[in-house]
Amino acid sequence: MKNEIKKIGDAILAHVRSAIREAAKGDADFEFKLNRWVFTRLQGDGRKQSKPIKQKLWDSGIRQCQACRKNFLNIKGVEIHRKDSSLCYSVENCELMHRQCHQKKT
Ligand SMILES: [Zn+2]
Repeated sequence: MKNEIKKIGDAILAHVRSAIREAAKGDADFEFKLNRWVFTRLQGDGRKQSKPIKQKLWDSGIRQCQACRKNFLNIKGVEIHRKDSSLCYSVENCELMHRQCHQKKT
């Protein structure tokens, strides 16, 4: 599994790097900006994945930080934590925590 991820991931990276280099046509600043644009969007995809899971956990009635067991005042500032960081965001793999408790954990 891990080798397969690396093999396929490296192939995708090589493809994307080549596409960025080609589009930049030797303009280093443009290449840098394109690289950053793609990087930020891909990171954002991960965040988009976590938001509905956080809402589902909240809607299921969880009102307590899973780390310190104190009650949340509201959903604002509550963070989602993946119990197994090698797995994606899902109701089964996630719990809700205060920002501070989450930072201590990670
Ligand atoms: Zn807490």
